[in-house]
Amino acid sequence: MNIHEYQAKDLLAKFGIAVPTGYPAMSVEEAVEAAGKLPGPLYVVKAQIHAGGRGKGKFKELRPDAKGGVRLAKSVADVETDAKEMLGNTLVTVQTGEAGKQVNRLYVTDGVDIAHEYYLALLVDRASGRIAMVVSTEGGMSIEDVAHETPEKITTITIDPATGFMPHHGRSVAFALKLKGETAKDAQKLAKKLYEAFVALDCSMLEINPLVETTGGGLLVLDTKMSFDSNALFRHKDVEAMRDETEEDPMEIEASKYDLAYIKLDGDIGCMVNGAGLAMATMDIIKLNGAFPANFLDVGGGASKEKVSAAFKIILSDPAVKGILVNIFGGIMRCDTIAEGIVAAAKEVELDVPLVVRLEGTNVQQGKDILAHSGLAIIPADDLGDAARKIVSEVKQAA
Ligand code: GDP
Ligand code: MG
Repeated sequence: MNIHEYQAKDLLAKFGIAVPTGYPAMSVEEAVEAAGKLPGPLYVVKAQIHAGGRGKGKFKELRPDAKGGVRLAKSVADVETDAKEMLGNTLVTVQTGEAGKQVNRLYVTDGVDIAHEYYLALLVDRASGRIAMVVSTEGGMSIEDVAHETPEKITTITIDPATGFMPHHGRSVAFALKLKGETAKDAQKLAKKLYEAFVALDCSMLEINPLVETTGGGLLVLDTKMSFDSNALFRHKDVEAMRDETEEDPMEIEASKYDLAYIKLDGDIGCMVNGAGLAMATMDIIKLNGAFPANFLDVGGGASKEKVSAAFKIILSDPAVKGILVNIFGGIMRCDTIAEGIVAAAKEVELDVPLVVRLEGTNVQQGKDILAHSGLAIIPADDLGDAARKIVSEVKQAA
């Protein structure tokens, strides 16, 4: 799960991490009120969307030369003008895709005089089984270019979660950022606090870009992105409450209500599978046959007829889906339950795309019989390869 920048900064502040003062605003009036509480003379008006690259982003509804999603304002009147231009409009950044994201929230912060922009991120590094701290002297809006063109300017320090953050990690961070004196000490303390916050909050990613050194000295977290391990959210009710469903894919939200593991993808073949491994294999074999999956969907081990039916409807509600492949191995889950769920859903919503079903395992014959006598145009398949070939050829024929 992701949260907004202002929410992430509130969480970091609780761990004693320095962030610029700021207030969220849902309307132009609130933005003006927020600016009124700040000392000025420099304000920053920041679009709150779950995507980075806002500074260089463009608003669809505004002239191409209009300012982006992070704006420096020199007066409260300017804050008002910026808020009016941003709220309700669609911001397109390198991370939103072409469709962009509508800006419904702003964050109005105290403007900072920047001496240097650094980069610092923490993430769970599966390869090393550790928490990686990735740092660079080249923070700011082009960190992706730095990673491509001058990867030597990025340093990765890994921390063993069993022993935790140690002073030498802090020194390595300060050294990699080429900091001296008090600022180096600040960086060591900051890195430790960030690690503590990361672990305590069960983050999967915490990115600070930029981490700035101000002209007055001292380090400040100017921008941050935070993601959480959804499986640990039950331990963090305060974080869970920060969820902004308007930022999420509506189909993924619907799926989460039924406890279905659903991820929207770019292809046109909808998949309904049980078990994450089989779901991955199904997506692979669709690709092997020259097509692309429209989603990942794992209905889980002991799914009910209602759950299967909900899953089927979610797949069908995706306009990109041109065909559906159901691939179920009935272990704990019985094939007749699956068949009943499919038939119930297909009768409720109009099934207007080809449907290939491959069933195997417990009660397979009962399942096949239910499908065969359903009156639905279901194409049965014998095995995974057969199923993939059939759905891909059906979808290609229909195109
Ligand atoms: P992003 O584009 O979504 O990553 O948004 P950021 O919050 O990182 O802002 C983009 C850029 O705007 C930063 O890299 C800074 O250069 C600039 N910026 C943001 N806040 C301030 C500020 O308080 N003062 C100044 N001078 N620049 C800022
Ligand atoms: Mg940034």
